[in-house]
Amino acid sequence: MPAVAVADISLQSRLSMRTFSNSQFSNTLNQFQLKRLAETSQKQRGWLDIDKGELLAPILVPRQIGSPGYRATQKLIVDTLGDLGYVISWDNFTASTPVGNVPMANIVATRNPGAAKRLVLAAHYESKIMEGGDFVGATDSAVPVALMLDVARGLAAKIDQQPSSDLSLQMIFFDGEEAYHEWTRTDSIYGSRHLASFWESNPDPATVSALSTTAQHIPELERVDLMVLLDLIGAPENSFIALELPTADLFMKLGELEQRLLSAGHISRAYMNTKVPPGVSRVDDDHRPFVEREVPVMHLISVPFPKVWHTLDDNASALDPRVIADMSIILRSFFDEEDKTDDPLELAPLSDESTESANLNDDDADAGDRIDDVVPDTQKASSFSGSVPKPVLSDTAFLARFVSVLVFGTLVHALVSRVL
Ligand SMILES: [Zn+2]
Repeated sequence: MPAVAVADISLQSRLSMRTFSNSQFSNTLNQFQLKRLAETSQKQRGWLDIDKGELLAPILVPRQIGSPGYRATQKLIVDTLGDLGYVISWDNFTASTPVGNVPMANIVATRNPGAAKRLVLAAHYESKIMEGGDFVGATDSAVPVALMLDVARGLAAKIDQQPSSDLSLQMIFFDGEEAYHEWTRTDSIYGSRHLASFWESNPDPATVSALSTTAQHIPELERVDLMVLLDLIGAPENSFIALELPTADLFMKLGELEQRLLSAGHISRAYMNTKVPPGVSRVDDDHRPFVEREVPVMHLISVPFPKVWHTLDDNASALDPRVIADMSIILRSFFDEEDKTDDPLELAPLSDESTESANLNDDDADAGDRIDDVVPDTQKASSFSGSVPKPVLSDTAFLARFVSVLVFGTLVHALVSRVL
């Protein structure tokens, strides 16, 4: 494990004062909506088929910068999201790397650039250069990219119903995440460092076009309500913990949503380990330049890392189709913009159940240069007074709520009929 990054700790504690909370991103779809969503996802499962799924199979190839697989991935992203009406921006730049200057390109796709705020979903699309063979990076990050396309396409009809929403879904596909040599602050995340720096003082070109060139523009970063960063997803041992303190509450809500999906039989198992105290570990990744600029980020990267991490075995054979299918349903449920505000369901009170510490990557020393144990002592961990999520509303309570809505609707209808 590396030395604890002091600057990061102070940043964490400072940002923790600014806990992210927005009622639009939470566990509020009712049982019927979740069931319908899960059934639709099931029907569309072929999109993410490992051998022939149109959103995954074409990118389960080496995607080193400039390679044919890299170009094919760019094309799939642009074609898929362009067809859905997303506005595409290219953030082209030349990175200074240990192997010289390398042209790179982040891809930004925004559904409704005229909206005031963005909900960002992000992953890196290039794959690492490895000695000894062609590295595919199925978990790193072909599956995250495919899941982003799946969310965009799977929710397209619902998103289209709300074209004037104040909140737009925005997808960022980062280039140059991988280090050329050792992972350091300067040899890693080339694309995200470039984009965060650009967005700190500039709007995205798509936003400028949508709001006209004469409008008063604010930096794009100020529009970002939340970034959800996906990485290392799709292996059988897939598991997440709350890595970022400012979004810890949101992670717990995601855990609650997952428990509801699980108890209704829509997914095969749970992935959110909500018993690990938030913030005990952090993993360096594409979100760093955004966190440093105070953007709330939920980092969904498998911890521990997959066994195949940064080996030539991180290819199609390392993937578990059930994990991919489950993640599709979980992410679609989370990002669904269905009319959540009409009838917000109340969250159950939090319990005082104690939490347990987890064994994080102890046998994966190579991952150490990306993982910081912010609070390594279990003393601190066991004093965490967080909660274990509970189902949001029992079926009986939900039925009662549903009946009352029906009765109310009937009354309103009768009233309106009389007035007319
Ligand atoms: Zn990697």
